Amino acid sequence: MPAESHMRPRKRIILLGATGSIGSSTLRVLREHKDRLELVGVAAHSRHAELAQICHEFAVPQAVLQDEKAYHLAQQSGDFPSSTTVNCGSEALAELATLPEADIVLVAVVGAAGLRPALAAIEAGKDIALANKELLVLGGAHVIEAAKRKGVRLLPTDSEHNAIFQCLQGHPANQLDKLILTASGGQFRDTPSSELQQVTPEMATQHPNWSMGPKITVDSATMANKGLELIEAHWLFGLEPERLEVVIHPQSVVHSFVQFIDGSILAQLSPPSMTFAIQHCLLYPDRAPGVEPTTDFRTAFSLDFKAPDFSKYPCLQLAYDALRSGGAAPAIFNAANEVAVERFLAKEIAYLEIPKLIEHSLSRMQAPQQPSLEQLFQTDTETRALAQSFRF
Ligand code: NAD
Ligand code: MG
Repeated sequence: MPAESHMRPRKRIILLGATGSIGSSTLRVLREHKDRLELVGVAAHSRHAELAQICHEFAVPQAVLQDEKAYHLAQQSGDFPSSTTVNCGSEALAELATLPEADIVLVAVVGAAGLRPALAAIEAGKDIALANKELLVLGGAHVIEAAKRKGVRLLPTDSEHNAIFQCLQGHPANQLDKLILTASGGQFRDTPSSELQQVTPEMATQHPNWSMGPKITVDSATMANKGLELIEAHWLFGLEPERLEVVIHPQSVVHSFVQFIDGSILAQLSPPSMTFAIQHCLLYPDRAPGVEPTTDFRTAFSLDFKAPDFSKYPCLQLAYDALRSGGAAPAIFNAANEVAVERFLAKEIAYLEIPKLIEHSLSRMQAPQQPSLEQLFQTDTETRALAQSFRF
């Protein structure tokens, strides 16, 4: 351990979504950098035994289980160390995100549930490492405004946005022409459209390059994920949809491109593992050796790029449309997609009905322009009810 690292105070981290895919990649980074990073709070939905194990390993003083049943089971089992205070519910989650002793909150819960704790953390002056994209799609205007007002950093942890963030360092905004987000094309990239009718949840939750939670893996197949990321990029980097492009890149090694007004293009490369982006955010603005080997050019490999076929990926077109409509339209897109994916995974609707349910919701719901936060939450709730009750 270099002597200088003893001098630097450790960054104190709260990890929301500790038992998930991003959560476990984050724990790998924390294990490697114990001299720089310290876990002071963790939260999960219901996997209490796993969360308790994390509290043991990292001596975490504060934990929250969102789910009440899981909380009571945890109380009975006595799984958690006696030195960990365990709480339960949405309010406890938002409170955890504001712990005075924390420096940075990594938001890695899935879905719109991330918005309230993220806003609470920003209001408490915490820097945010943002893995969750749905919260920006729902409440981007409010999150960006609050972050500016409080002077906190929003560090993009989604790999594409992290790549863009890295490429933009040192370049003034007026030199930027456009952003080009890479997309793997998902697990059905080479499957003919005519065969997509037969796609089952088991097939849609396997990704060729990335190991991720079930929701984002399905989103990756439909490219709703890239749609959410376009909207995320709009909020993080302030560009209109005309200056946001998507390119299919099957190898997932180039994580995105930044094109400047003189035509020069920069990219960030690393293997398809989230540890690179997570570590970059948690140590920012410092760097340290990564937890796994990076791309090695001594081994032959090729990188391919092609334009997406919008007729094969209607969710991508719907996301562009929602972004262009503005106001609460992205919130409708997100809520309808969350419900569509849940219903697809529960075998209630077919794979090809996911975009249809989003399209139906966008056409039926009123999308107020410049919505307040409360209007957005209301739109979210109403869209979910509509998408839940729709029968094909
Ligand atoms: P996941 O399903 O593997 O894990 C989700 C985590 O959030 C779990 O710990 C779960 O217990 C917790 N959680 C879920 N709902 C909650 C709630 N209401 N309250 C508290 N905790 C809750 O998901 P993931 O793949 O890790 O993705 C997390 C987020 O990061 C998503 O928004 C996803 O889009 C984004 N993201 C993921 C990846 C990836 O590689 N997995 C990459 C980029 C962005
Ligand atoms: Mg991504």
